[in-house]
Amino acid sequence: MQDVNPAATATAGPGTGRGPAELLHRLRTRHPVDPVTHVERVPARAGQQAPWPQWAPEELRAAFARRGVTAPWRHQAEAAELAYAGQHVVVATGTASGKSLAYQLPTLATLLADPRATVLYLAPTKALAADQLRAVAGLDLDGVRPATYDGDTPRTEREWIRRHSRFVLTNPDMLHHGLLPGHTHWSGFLRRLTYVVVDECHTYRGVFGSHVAHVLRRLRRRCAQFGRTPVFLLASATSGDPAATAGRLTGVPVTAVTEDTSPRGGVTFALWEPPPLPPPADVGAIAGVGAPADDLTQVRRSALRETADLLADTVAEGVRTLAFVRSRRGAEVVAANARRALDEAVPGLGERVAAYRAGYLKEERRKLERALLHGDLLGLASTNALELGVDLVGLDAVLICGWPGTRASLWQQAGRAGRSGDEALAVLVARDDPLDTYLVHHPEALFGRPVEATVLDPANPYVLTPQLACAAAESPLTPADLELFGDGAKEAVDELVQAGDLRQRPTGWYWRHRERPEIDLRGQGGAPVCVVEASTGRLLGTVDGGSAHFLVHPGAVYLHQGVSYVVDALDLDDGCALVHAEEPDWSTHARDVTSLSVVSVRSYRDAGPVGLFLGEVDVTSQVVSYQRRRIASGEVIDTRPLDLPARELRTVAVWFTLSPQSLAAAGVEPADVPGALHAAEHAAIGLLPLMATCDRWDIGGLSTALHPDTEAPTVFVYDGHPGGAGFAERAYRTAAAWLGATRDAVVECGCESGCPSCVQSPKCGNGNNPLSKSGAVRVLDVVLANLSTTTAPAQPGPADR
Ligand SMILES: [Zn+2]
Ligand SMILES: [Zn+2]
Repeated sequence: MQDVNPAATATAGPGTGRGPAELLHRLRTRHPVDPVTHVERVPARAGQQAPWPQWAPEELRAAFARRGVTAPWRHQAEAAELAYAGQHVVVATGTASGKSLAYQLPTLATLLADPRATVLYLAPTKALAADQLRAVAGLDLDGVRPATYDGDTPRTEREWIRRHSRFVLTNPDMLHHGLLPGHTHWSGFLRRLTYVVVDECHTYRGVFGSHVAHVLRRLRRRCAQFGRTPVFLLASATSGDPAATAGRLTGVPVTAVTEDTSPRGGVTFALWEPPPLPPPADVGAIAGVGAPADDLTQVRRSALRETADLLADTVAEGVRTLAFVRSRRGAEVVAANARRALDEAVPGLGERVAAYRAGYLKEERRKLERALLHGDLLGLASTNALELGVDLVGLDAVLICGWPGTRASLWQQAGRAGRSGDEALAVLVARDDPLDTYLVHHPEALFGRPVEATVLDPANPYVLTPQLACAAAESPLTPADLELFGDGAKEAVDELVQAGDLRQRPTGWYWRHRERPEIDLRGQGGAPVCVVEASTGRLLGTVDGGSAHFLVHPGAVYLHQGVSYVVDALDLDDGCALVHAEEPDWSTHARDVTSLSVVSVRSYRDAGPVGLFLGEVDVTSQVVSYQRRRIASGEVIDTRPLDLPARELRTVAVWFTLSPQSLAAAGVEPADVPGALHAAEHAAIGLLPLMATCDRWDIGGLSTALHPDTEAPTVFVYDGHPGGAGFAERAYRTAAAWLGATRDAVVECGCESGCPSCVQSPKCGNGNNPLSKSGAVRVLDVVLANLSTTTAPAQPGPADR
């Protein structure tokens, strides 16, 4: 932070404090009400080194020494020792803690000692694999011949890699599409496979993670046929229970190394809650059943505006700043507002700020990154850390607009700040959201022990069945394989036999078709929808298939590089949205309606007047309308109908029921029951990401004063993906902690009768009506009191697996 960027139009004169604490002080004192709820000085930490393991060959030590590594950090040595001794291990430590060395050390030592051994490295993105290739190749070790093998690898090089490389870097998609089906080409490599490195394994979550879990089982099966049992070495961001998650992902018992002993620079981390807006004079507070208004009642300045102002303020000081915004739309809005504010102060200064997001084409993204690194740009508003180039670090300040969903993302984003040895500033700006509210008032949940776990559900039949088909196409399935693939495998095989895809013979189950089954590991949201400018045919970007109904429905306002477009047509068959440039002064917000029926109960807890359940449900939902809202005021202009098809979802839900008597005894009037349950449902959905790495778009909910299947007042929370993704299951297992945090978030919100920071939901199909904030607290109190007094263990349901 001591550098003054010479390219900057800096207003900081001599003597102006430029450290992060001084910068933060100036930012917060511009507000009449201090928006900062907590400042955490994450202190600089000295590293703890360990000696090189005995078995590390001199050649390898020398190679690391050339790279400036004179000895490993203690956690690196610990993980390396375990892996070298043949134990499966996961290193779950912070960003930039040197997880690469922890797997390079044992794998490369083995390759040097055993000229036949091979290593397979898996990264979630090609960019990371390419980065790791540079690192391994840079060590220049004899006979290792590292190479990436992915969709971009030229055909002419593939054969050479299969035959000669002993350290192959690829991704799960290529393992699934290329290495496993082509196993005869790969048998030489696989029959000598000693280690499998799974990097950034926390990104394998939900449905994608469940697919990857089975791809790894297919790999294990293939190796076992050659008599190999490779050691798994996983690297994860910090998370709750990494050993269990890694075990679920690989199917083998895994030991976790979690103590980070690497040195780090200090970060001044501020939690920032945008100040309340002045209350509207003409609206009397309505107690009990919530506000009848068909809109979110804004009580705070929006996090987007707050972030835009902070970005403008830091850029005006010549501070190179990266702002992370969760939505693509939000990143555009933050950049546009910051540009406007800067241009008002100094005409032309706005050009130093740009927006950057996933939908852009790669060349556009790299150009923006270079401009920020060189100081031509001073401020960038971006969506997703994984999309950013790995080199983009060393910024002076990072603004995080809204909780990014996981601590891993939070630290990854904050980790972009701070040149080596320098102090940096990170600011988390809370959105109007129950989880954000909870976190800015509970810093211990951010800076203490992690609770959120990476969840996946390999038993999801929508994942398991096609994966077993792939396995059978690779080689016939045997009864022993059913155990490998785990719960539900027998049922899935029976289903494939029924469908005529598998034939049962005495020696096993055989794939009956010529072609292999076609599945896309990342296809959970359907194929991406292309956004095309109708007049020019230009491809502007893509939208994930699952959110297309919400984001590019006819009439939707779509932003690209600060330019606003309106969608003319959405062709779901062609996967294409046609748009034209237009800059209306409103934004659009889609709404859906949902119904739900219970299919079966997997497990339940009988807690007297309260019941807690986990089971399968059928959900029918349809995006039916959208609201147009004025950008400046948030005022609703109108609601327009949409004609989009309903979507059916068989998935997994957690739900709780309460007896009407217990609600009455807690003071919830019968008329208030729907609003109380509805408010509790919204807040509970908002807080689930605290327990499991998901966001509220991964999950849905439904509440009702009398559900025909439960015959009681009920709140449902379900996984938004076919077959479930593990979120509802995690909610069921951690119900007391989850609902306790939900209650705290609602109680601690300073609003009168409910707001987006506690019980209102941006995706409510009922326009946030009815809602009772006080009723929600009573409902949650009844549930929590009964869950804590019953010690009865969970009962398996009739369909428990
Ligand atoms: Zn509130
Ligand atoms: Zn709702």
